[in-house]
Formats: sequence, C-alpha cells, structure tokens
Amino acid sequence: MNTAVYTLFQYLRNLAAARPELPLLGDEGGWRTAEECLRRVEAGAGLLYSSGLRPGDLAALRCERSVNTVLTLLCLQRLGAAAVLVSPKEDLRQTAAACSPPLNTAAFLSADGGPLRPAILLRRPGEDAPVRLPLCASGVTPAPVWDDPDAPAFYIFTSGSSGEKKAVVLSQGNLVSNLLDSAPLGGYFEDDIALGALPLDHVFGLALLTGAVVLGHGLYLTGASSPEELLQVIRRERITRMNGVPSLYLALAEKAGRYGVDSLRAGYIGGAPWTPKQFRYIESALGMTLVPVYGMSECIGISCASFHAPQAERMAGVGPFYPANEGRIPREDGSQAPQGEEGEVCVNGPMRMLGYHDPAQTARAIDGDGFLHTGDLGRVDGNGVLHLTGRKKDIIIRNGVNLSPRRIEDALLSLPNVQSAAVVGLPDEQCGELPWAAAVCPEGGPDGLMEGLRRCLAKNELPAGILCLDSMPMTATGKPDKRRIRELLRQNLQK
Ligand code: AMP
Repeated sequence: MNTAVYTLFQYLRNLAAARPELPLLGDEGGWRTAEECLRRVEAGAGLLYSSGLRPGDLAALRCERSVNTVLTLLCLQRLGAAAVLVSPKEDLRQTAAACSPPLNTAAFLSADGGPLRPAILLRRPGEDAPVRLPLCASGVTPAPVWDDPDAPAFYIFTSGSSGEKKAVVLSQGNLVSNLLDSAPLGGYFEDDIALGALPLDHVFGLALLTGAVVLGHGLYLTGASSPEELLQVIRRERITRMNGVPSLYLALAEKAGRYGVDSLRAGYIGGAPWTPKQFRYIESALGMTLVPVYGMSECIGISCASFHAPQAERMAGVGPFYPANEGRIPREDGSQAPQGEEGEVCVNGPMRMLGYHDPAQTARAIDGDGFLHTGDLGRVDGNGVLHLTGRKKDIIIRNGVNLSPRRIEDALLSLPNVQSAAVVGLPDEQCGELPWAAAVCPEGGPDGLMEGLRRCLAKNELPAGILCLDSMPMTATGKPDKRRIRELLRQNLQK
C-alpha cells in the first residue's frame, strides 16, 4: 500500500534538482530538459495566478499532444486549479457547457507557440479574444505553494462507447498511486522513452505523463495517428515503451516489418479485449513484452499482470488486482462470489475517482463501503488473476437467457481472417433481444462466418445476422464504438 503520495509538481521539482539535464518532454520541436520544464511551469503558474485563476478553479484545457500542452497542464497542477480535459476534436466551451450540472469554468486554455516561445492562450468566459501568457517570461511572481494531492485535479469525460458521457473527477493522488503501484510490475527502466500517442484527455494517456514525471524518464508526444507515422517516430526517437489499446498495437504490428523497429521493450495493453493469437502476434512483430492492464476513467488502474512473468501467464487474464486496490466480485445478494464464479467487478482503493461531477451518478456507481461498481463482469482464478468476461450492461437477454456478447466476439475472432468483431443486442418482438454481429473479414462473407460460429457456439448464441464491414467504427481511444455499430446494424436491418 502506498502511503507517501506527492503532487506532480513536487515530483517535477525533485526530478529537476536531481537530474536537471534529463530530456523529459519531447515533440517535433525537440526535447526539453527537466530543469527547463520546471522553469516554464513556475512561470506559467505565476502568470495564471496573476491573471486571476485561483486554487480550486476549473480551467478547460484543449488537449493537443504537445509539450506546451503538458506544460500548461502542469501549470494548473502547480497552481491547484483543476483541468477539465477536452479533446482537440471538441469545442472547449460547448463541451464544458454540455455537462450536467453545468461546469463552472473560470477559463478556457490552449497551448501555443513552439519550443522557443511557449505560451498559454487564456480566454475568460464571455470574452472572445484570448490573452497570451508567455511561459518564457522572467521575473514572474510565483503562485502560492499548493501541495494537496487529494484535491480535484482532473475532469475527464468517459468515452461513452456504450452509454452516456460522464465527467469523472480525479485527484493527482489517484494518478500517482496508480503509477507507484504499477511501477514494479510494468517493466520500467531508467533510460525509458515513452511514446505519447494516446489522447491526453484519457487516463491511459495521462498515466504516461505521470510515469515520466514521477519515475523520471522521457516522454515523446506526437499528434501522429497513422501506424506508418508512429513507426517512424518509434524508430527515430528510440521509443522503449508505450500504452495502447489492442487495435493500436495490431495496426503497428502489421506494418512493423517495413520500419526496422527494434527499440520497444514494454507496453501496457488494455482498454478492450484481445485474443491469445493477437497477443502473440503483437509481441513477436514488435519485439516487445506486453503487460495486460485493466482500468477505466473512474479508477485508473484496477489490475495488472507482471512484465517479468512468462508469456503464457501474462496472456491469461488481466493480472491480479493492484496491491493497493481491494477487489470484490459480489453476488446479487451482496455476498462474496466463490473463487471462479462470474460477477460484477467492484473495486476500492487510492486510485478510485473522487466521484463524478454529478453526485447522482456517483451515488449510483459507488456503494456505501466505497466500492466502485465497474459494470464489467469477471471472475478471479485460483492464482488471484482477474479474467474479464464481458460488460454487465452489454448482456443480451434472448428468450430470458443471458448471452455474453464477449463470448460471441471471441468466437468470431477465433475464425481465420476475422480482424475485429463486435456484437450488440437489438430489440426483437418475439425474443426480447437478439445478438447481431459486425465483423471485419477481408476474405469471406457472413455465410462462411456463420458456418464457423455453428461449430463453436450454442444455437441460441448464434447471431441473428452478421454485417461485414471494411473497417470497424472506433472511439477516439481506439475501442469498437458500440453506439455507432448498433446504428449501422439497425440501418442494415431496415433495408
Ligand atoms: P474507459 O473508461 O473509456 O477507459 O473504458 C473502461 C472500460 O474499458 C472498462 O470498463 C472495460 O469495459 C474496458 N477495458 C479496460 N481494460 C480492459 C481490458 N484489459 N480488457 C478488456 N476490457 C477492458
């Protein structure tokens, strides 16, 4: 259990004192040392303070993947203001206003300038013209000291891949606890250079920043998203570790041969399920060790496998609960499910969110004992390893029988040539609900797939139909977008 947890700024200050020349943050403008980052953050926090921003205020931040955005985020953490993290694809003001209850945002921020003239553009509500705060200013009065790692620090919007969007409130301590717990398991090395290719408005991306500042290693931020561009970055910057969802790793693995990538060592894989076949393929194509993690915006990391375990062990599930987390799989009546029995994964610990912005949503998700009900289904085996089996809200009830979309997806993925698969339930007058599948399978059509499924699924698990797609609709974080897939299947049914 971690006890001593500091703010990100305190870690940055210690790092800059111990290793001032460490190349800490890089992007296409080059690398900035720990000492330079500290100087810029001190200046920026002072300027934000003199512009009227106060500890406890909310500031919406446009999350481009750039060093200057990360510095702006650290300025807010230094000041004690909470950052409302907004995807660069969304409008800052609209996103903050769309939240229910509305977010009382004191400022809208975006990063500006290159490595030589970094700046924050600050816009007040109701004002159109932004003020430019140069992070290179000297003689700025420092902001008052702020050292509360347990205060609200980040507002993150859940991806909403299958439900309503919610604003999750996290503290710096939530992120730091997760990092400290994951460090001994994650295959970190002192000379690591991490790839920052995930959205900074998502916990999986934020965790990369926490790793760099707390453990003291390089983080290279890139707005690139195509596998070709990313492989070039990995080769050029000698990237050693990354975080990613299975679809990102698969896309990189497919093209890796052409780019001579040989520097990757470790990578957290999580966010969506994968098959053992995919796991082995990614490891051998990218020459790296995958470390399965399970987490969510509401509780950054829940479980983690170990970098040091053999492949067969790492592949089997999503690892044990982190040492600091307490996990439970209760039955419907509240009693603890025996080992191996499936139920909803519930978790409590220092990584659990402070709550949702909407207290009514918090009351529905966190029970009286402080346990977060994740909505994910799983079971724990004899070695304490958690296996995810599906999502509670995705369960399809056909003629009163519960069907797991995950089981049908796994069966589809086990067929030759199926690259991705997603199964959703659609209402049906006779059966209540029916499973429908979407699959990406360049060679072969729905009939061949259905034939294959008949060999591995029970009759009532067979989908009512399979829609073959050229590509799977994905969320911004690279997971199958079940809302969009449901729409596509509905439209197809109407034809
Ligand atoms: P988000 O909050 O957008 O990161 O989504 C979190 C959800 O992603 C979890 O509730 C799970 O349903 C899913 N997820 C996360 N990690 C894994 C994993 N390792 N395997 C399968 N699903 C996962």
